[in-house]
Amino acid sequence: MNIEQLYSIYEQHRSVQTDTRKLKPNDIFFALKGGNFNGNEFAAKALEMGAAFAVVDEAAYYTVPEKMMLVEDALVTLQQLALRHRQQLNIPFLAITGTNGKTTTKELINAALSAGLKTYATVGNLNNHIGVPLTILSIQPDVQIAVIEMGANHQQEIAAYCQIALPTHGIITNIGKAHLEGFGSEEGVKKAKGELYDFLRSNNGTAFVCNDYGYLMEMAKGIPHIITYGGQEADFVGEAVTDSAFLAVEVRGNSQVGFIQTQLVGAYNFPNVMAAVAVATHFGVAEKDIAPAIAHYAPSNNRSQVIVQGSNTIIMDAYNANPSSMKAAIENFASLSASKKILMLGAMMELGADSIKEHQALVSLLERLHWDAVVLVGGDFKKVTHPYIYLENAAEAAKWLQQQQFEHAHILIKGSRSTGMEKVIA
Ligand code: ATP
Ligand code: MG
Repeated sequence: MNIEQLYSIYEQHRSVQTDTRKLKPNDIFFALKGGNFNGNEFAAKALEMGAAFAVVDEAAYYTVPEKMMLVEDALVTLQQLALRHRQQLNIPFLAITGTNGKTTTKELINAALSAGLKTYATVGNLNNHIGVPLTILSIQPDVQIAVIEMGANHQQEIAAYCQIALPTHGIITNIGKAHLEGFGSEEGVKKAKGELYDFLRSNNGTAFVCNDYGYLMEMAKGIPHIITYGGQEADFVGEAVTDSAFLAVEVRGNSQVGFIQTQLVGAYNFPNVMAAVAVATHFGVAEKDIAPAIAHYAPSNNRSQVIVQGSNTIIMDAYNANPSSMKAAIENFASLSASKKILMLGAMMELGADSIKEHQALVSLLERLHWDAVVLVGGDFKKVTHPYIYLENAAEAAKWLQQQQFEHAHILIKGSRSTGMEKVIA
């Protein structure tokens, strides 16, 4: 059996699953291998549960030949099937990568595009070698435009995703320091994310570029079609309004989009919002419908959520933390007008040899600004010199916060998922 035959089975059911716990009748099951499991062991069970078909890659589990396909590597087959499906879909594909704000930008774009077009966007954060093909295989024939988030922590990863998704359009949100373990340096991050621009350059593609970031404009040179957004002299110009904890954006120029009151915290979300304005306008969504759609989007998963508890306002940003997103969040918090500001920061992960240096740099940034209290939690914060309170973990931070009994305070809680900082206010 080959990919064409598998694709005709796919066309009958149009639903793919890799996890028997989430299996629905008539799904096509792919036996993938993870760190702790071997999907092959679940293939027969998947068929018993009503799967239409199963793709396995170990002969020992090829037990129901009429409903199974034995391949060399089920993951590679999944990716090939996704490409086959992509080639069938004659619609624009917008790929989104970058260091920070991919999911937020994707969700804002999804909201804005959905005001005028049948849109399919990556669900949640399914942005890796499994998530990208699964996303593509979820795109139904009536979809008019696809938005695909692509994450990466090593070179050639984005290039590989582009070979499956064949994006016609792309966005790099920004380049910052993250996953330095895999990338080596910020220059390495640039090269890796730049693989999206490389693909667009060689395939008559279109890039939406924030022209406030000179380095992105530089990197984008030679892409056949470039549409810019940002604070000035862009195709789509806007201004960030930060009177309250929530960002608002006034879209200027010829655009009729107007004033957008977002539910996002932080001026660093300005380019994310402008990207959505640019993309939705470009693809013909009525301008009057764009602001309400963006305003409606509220982040989930502890991505910069605002929580009011009594007289205190908590900005919970416990989803991820790397040097550039930490800096953006801290500077934004410093610029807010509030009488009492408390900072609780969890350690940053995956920084390799630069880790201590980056934690120390963060402490230097903190020292230049005024805070009523700063609590540093765990990881490499333990190994740097600072004048602040140090606690081992989120549980201790929670205890500390309870003892303080703050009133009328603004509290920024930020850290990587693995530090579990969201537990501080549980
Ligand atoms: P991941 O790599 O985990 O997929 P992501 O790139 O999808 O992350 P988001 O989930 O959108 O990023 O946002 C995570 C956090 O990044 C936010 O809570 C916020 O702190 C920060 N962030 C979002 N946008 C920006 C930005 N433009 N610049 C700096 N930091 C940002
Ligand atoms: Mg994401």
